[in-house]
Amino acid sequence: MNLILLGPPGAGKGTQARLLVESRGLVQLSTGDMLRAAVAAGTEVGKKAKTIMDRGDLVTDEVVIGIISDRLDEPDMKGGAIFDGFPRTLAQADALAELLERKGLTLDSVIEMRSDDEVLVERVTGRFTCAGCGEGYHRSFKKPAKEGVCDKCGESKMVQRADDNEESFRTRLLNYYKDTSPLVGYYHAKGSLRSVDGTAEIDDVTKQINAVVTA
Ligand code: AMP
Repeated sequence: MNLILLGPPGAGKGTQARLLVESRGLVQLSTGDMLRAAVAAGTEVGKKAKTIMDRGDLVTDEVVIGIISDRLDEPDMKGGAIFDGFPRTLAQADALAELLERKGLTLDSVIEMRSDDEVLVERVTGRFTCAGCGEGYHRSFKKPAKEGVCDKCGESKMVQRADDNEESFRTRLLNYYKDTSPLVGYYHAKGSLRSVDGTAEIDDVTKQINAVVTA
Protein backbone atom coordinates (compact mmCIF):
# COMPACT_ATOMS: atom_id res chain seq x y z
CA MET A 1 0.00 0.00 0.00
CA ASN A 2 1.33 3.45 -0.93
CA LEU A 3 -0.19 6.50 0.75
CA ILE A 4 0.38 10.23 0.72
CA LEU A 5 -0.27 12.32 3.83
CA LEU A 6 -1.12 15.80 2.68
CA GLY A 7 -1.53 18.76 5.02
CA PRO A 8 -0.04 22.00 6.31
CA PRO A 9 2.92 22.10 8.73
CA GLY A 10 1.79 20.85 12.14
CA ALA A 11 -1.21 18.92 10.80
CA GLY A 12 0.26 15.72 12.31
CA LYS A 13 1.63 14.05 9.17
CA GLY A 14 4.84 12.89 10.84
CA THR A 15 3.05 11.59 13.94
CA GLN A 16 0.51 9.62 11.92
CA ALA A 17 3.19 8.36 9.50
CA ARG A 18 5.19 6.91 12.43
CA LEU A 19 2.06 5.21 13.77
CA LEU A 20 1.35 3.72 10.33
CA VAL A 21 4.92 2.41 10.21
CA GLU A 22 4.31 0.59 13.50
CA SER A 23 0.83 -0.73 12.70
CA ARG A 24 1.16 -1.58 9.00
CA GLY A 25 4.88 -2.08 8.44
CA LEU A 26 5.01 0.67 5.83
CA VAL A 27 8.14 2.72 5.21
CA GLN A 28 7.95 6.44 6.06
CA LEU A 29 9.32 8.66 3.31
CA SER A 30 9.67 12.12 4.79
CA THR A 31 11.55 14.49 2.49
CA GLY A 32 11.87 16.87 5.47
CA ASP A 33 13.63 14.17 7.53
CA MET A 34 15.84 13.23 4.58
CA LEU A 35 16.80 16.86 4.01
CA ARG A 36 17.51 17.38 7.73
CA ALA A 37 19.76 14.29 7.63
CA ALA A 38 21.58 15.80 4.62
CA VAL A 39 22.01 19.08 6.53
CA ALA A 40 23.36 17.23 9.59
CA ALA A 41 25.75 15.20 7.42
CA GLY A 42 26.99 18.39 5.69
CA THR A 43 26.43 17.04 2.15
CA GLU A 44 26.27 19.39 -0.86
CA VAL A 45 22.46 19.04 -0.93
CA GLY A 46 22.33 19.73 2.80
CA LYS A 47 24.48 22.85 2.54
CA LYS A 48 22.24 24.31 -0.16
CA ALA A 49 19.00 23.31 1.57
CA LYS A 50 19.76 24.59 5.08
CA THR A 51 19.10 28.33 4.60
CA ILE A 52 16.01 27.66 2.49
CA MET A 53 14.60 25.28 5.12
CA ASP A 54 15.41 27.55 8.07
CA ARG A 55 13.39 30.38 6.58
CA GLY A 56 10.52 28.06 5.67
CA ASP A 57 10.75 28.10 1.90
CA LEU A 58 10.63 25.11 -0.42
CA VAL A 59 13.73 23.34 -1.66
CA THR A 60 13.73 22.95 -5.48
CA ASP A 61 11.57 20.31 -7.12
CA GLU A 62 14.66 18.85 -8.80
CA VAL A 63 16.38 18.16 -5.46
CA VAL A 64 13.42 16.50 -3.72
CA ILE A 65 12.35 14.51 -6.78
CA GLY A 66 15.94 13.22 -7.04
CA ILE A 67 15.93 12.19 -3.35
CA ILE A 68 12.59 10.35 -3.71
CA SER A 69 13.60 8.69 -6.97
CA ASP A 70 16.77 7.27 -5.39
CA ARG A 71 14.86 6.13 -2.32
CA LEU A 72 12.21 4.34 -4.40
CA ASP A 73 14.94 2.16 -5.91
CA GLU A 74 15.71 0.61 -2.53
CA PRO A 75 14.40 -2.93 -1.91
CA ASP A 76 12.29 -2.09 1.20
CA MET A 77 9.86 -0.11 -1.00
CA LYS A 78 8.05 -3.26 -2.09
CA GLY A 79 6.03 -3.43 1.15
CA GLY A 80 4.59 0.05 0.63
CA ALA A 81 5.35 3.60 1.67
CA ILE A 82 3.84 6.63 3.32
CA PHE A 83 4.86 9.84 1.63
CA ASP A 84 5.06 12.47 4.34
CA GLY A 85 5.71 16.01 3.09
CA PHE A 86 6.08 14.92 -0.53
CA PRO A 87 4.74 15.89 -3.03
CA ARG A 88 4.45 19.58 -2.17
CA THR A 89 4.00 21.06 -5.66
CA LEU A 90 2.10 20.05 -8.80
CA ALA A 91 5.42 19.33 -10.55
CA GLN A 92 6.37 16.94 -7.71
CA ALA A 93 2.97 15.23 -7.93
CA ASP A 94 3.40 14.65 -11.67
CA ALA A 95 6.93 13.39 -11.12
CA LEU A 96 5.75 11.01 -8.40
CA ALA A 97 3.05 9.58 -10.67
CA GLU A 98 5.67 8.93 -13.35
CA LEU A 99 8.17 7.42 -10.91
CA LEU A 100 5.58 5.08 -9.42
CA GLU A 101 4.44 3.96 -12.83
CA ARG A 102 7.99 3.35 -14.01
CA LYS A 103 8.73 1.27 -10.91
CA GLY A 104 5.50 -0.72 -11.20
CA LEU A 105 4.03 0.76 -7.99
CA THR A 106 0.55 2.20 -7.44
CA LEU A 107 -0.78 5.04 -5.30
CA ASP A 108 -3.66 3.81 -3.14
CA SER A 109 -4.85 6.90 -1.25
CA VAL A 110 -4.03 10.51 -0.59
CA ILE A 111 -5.10 11.51 2.88
CA GLU A 112 -5.72 15.20 3.39
CA MET A 113 -5.27 16.16 7.05
CA ARG A 114 -7.51 19.20 7.48
CA SER A 115 -6.60 21.68 10.17
CA ASP A 116 -7.02 25.12 11.57
CA ASP A 117 -4.26 27.75 11.30
CA GLU A 118 -4.35 28.82 14.96
CA VAL A 119 -4.13 25.19 16.13
CA LEU A 120 -1.17 24.71 13.79
CA VAL A 121 0.90 27.64 15.06
CA GLU A 122 0.58 26.43 18.65
CA ARG A 123 1.39 22.84 17.73
CA VAL A 124 4.45 23.76 15.70
CA THR A 125 6.04 26.38 17.96
CA GLY A 126 5.59 24.19 21.08
CA ARG A 127 6.99 20.93 19.78
CA PHE A 128 10.40 19.44 20.55
CA THR A 129 12.00 16.02 20.32
CA CYS A 130 14.37 13.84 22.29
CA ALA A 131 17.89 14.10 20.84
CA GLY A 132 18.46 10.44 21.71
CA CYS A 133 15.51 8.50 20.28
CA GLY A 134 13.52 11.15 18.40
CA GLU A 135 10.39 10.80 20.57
CA GLY A 136 8.17 13.84 20.05
CA TYR A 137 6.90 16.10 22.86
CA HIS A 138 4.94 19.31 23.20
CA ARG A 139 5.22 22.02 25.86
CA SER A 140 1.42 22.07 26.39
CA PHE A 141 -0.02 18.82 25.05
CA LYS A 142 2.60 16.15 25.70
CA LYS A 143 5.14 16.98 28.39
CA PRO A 144 7.65 14.35 29.51
CA ALA A 145 6.80 12.94 32.98
CA LYS A 146 10.03 14.47 34.34
CA GLU A 147 10.83 17.87 32.85
CA GLY A 148 13.61 17.71 30.26
CA VAL A 149 13.98 13.91 30.44
CA CYS A 150 12.73 11.56 27.73
CA ASP A 151 10.08 9.10 28.97
CA LYS A 152 11.17 6.55 26.41
CA CYS A 153 14.98 6.45 26.63
CA GLY A 154 15.99 8.65 29.60
CA GLU A 155 18.00 11.09 27.47
CA SER A 156 18.12 14.62 28.91
CA LYS A 157 18.84 16.54 25.73
CA MET A 158 15.79 17.83 23.90
CA VAL A 159 15.95 19.62 20.55
CA GLN A 160 13.68 21.95 18.61
CA ARG A 161 13.69 22.22 14.80
CA ALA A 162 15.31 25.42 13.50
CA ASP A 163 12.17 26.19 11.46
CA ASP A 164 9.66 25.62 14.28
CA ASN A 165 9.51 29.32 15.19
CA GLU A 166 6.60 31.61 14.44
CA GLU A 167 8.29 33.52 11.58
CA SER A 168 9.37 30.42 9.62
CA PHE A 169 6.05 28.76 10.39
CA ARG A 170 4.13 31.66 8.77
CA THR A 171 6.30 31.32 5.63
CA ARG A 172 5.75 27.54 5.58
CA LEU A 173 1.99 28.01 5.94
CA LEU A 174 1.92 30.56 3.13
CA ASN A 175 3.92 28.19 0.92
CA TYR A 176 1.46 25.43 1.78
CA TYR A 177 -1.50 27.49 0.59
CA LYS A 178 0.37 28.77 -2.47
CA ASP A 179 2.15 25.66 -3.74
CA THR A 180 0.79 22.58 -1.96
CA SER A 181 -2.92 23.09 -1.41
CA PRO A 182 -3.64 22.87 -5.19
CA LEU A 183 -2.78 19.18 -4.76
CA VAL A 184 -6.08 18.72 -2.89
CA GLY A 185 -7.96 19.47 -6.13
CA TYR A 186 -5.42 17.52 -8.20
CA TYR A 187 -5.89 14.29 -6.24
CA HIS A 188 -9.62 14.87 -5.84
CA ALA A 189 -9.90 14.97 -9.64
CA LYS A 190 -7.93 11.72 -9.83
CA GLY A 191 -10.36 10.10 -7.37
CA SER A 192 -7.74 9.27 -4.75
CA LEU A 193 -8.39 11.99 -2.15
CA ARG A 194 -9.72 11.14 1.33
CA SER A 195 -10.02 13.76 4.07
CA VAL A 196 -9.70 13.47 7.84
CA ASP A 197 -10.05 16.00 10.66
CA GLY A 198 -6.46 16.64 11.70
CA THR A 199 -7.48 18.82 14.67
CA ALA A 200 -8.81 15.78 16.58
CA GLU A 201 -6.81 13.87 19.26
CA ILE A 202 -3.97 11.72 17.88
CA ASP A 203 -5.80 8.40 18.49
CA ASP A 204 -8.93 9.71 16.88
CA VAL A 205 -7.04 10.85 13.76
CA THR A 206 -5.44 7.38 13.57
CA LYS A 207 -8.90 5.81 13.68
CA GLN A 208 -10.13 8.09 10.89
CA ILE A 209 -7.08 7.21 8.76
CA ASN A 210 -7.55 3.48 9.36
CA ALA A 211 -11.19 3.81 8.37
CA VAL A 212 -10.39 5.52 5.08
CA VAL A 213 -7.51 3.25 4.08
CA THR A 214 -9.43 0.05 4.76
CA ALA A 215 -12.69 1.32 3.17
P1 AMP B 1 8.88 19.08 6.82
O1 AMP B 1 9.72 18.30 7.77
O2 AMP B 1 8.07 18.23 5.90
O3 AMP B 1 8.07 20.15 7.49
O4 AMP B 1 9.91 19.86 5.85
C1 AMP B 1 10.83 20.79 6.37
C2 AMP B 1 11.36 21.65 5.25
O5 AMP B 1 12.06 20.83 4.28
C3 AMP B 1 10.32 22.39 4.41
O6 AMP B 1 9.89 23.61 5.00
C4 AMP B 1 11.08 22.61 3.10
O7 AMP B 1 12.03 23.66 3.24
C5 AMP B 1 11.84 21.31 2.96
N1 AMP B 1 11.04 20.28 2.25
C6 AMP B 1 10.59 19.09 2.74
N2 AMP B 1 9.90 18.41 1.82
C7 AMP B 1 9.91 19.19 0.71
C8 AMP B 1 9.34 19.05 -0.58
N3 AMP B 1 8.62 17.96 -0.91
N4 AMP B 1 9.55 20.05 -1.49
C9 AMP B 1 10.27 21.14 -1.17
N5 AMP B 1 10.83 21.35 0.03
C10 AMP B 1 10.65 20.38 0.97
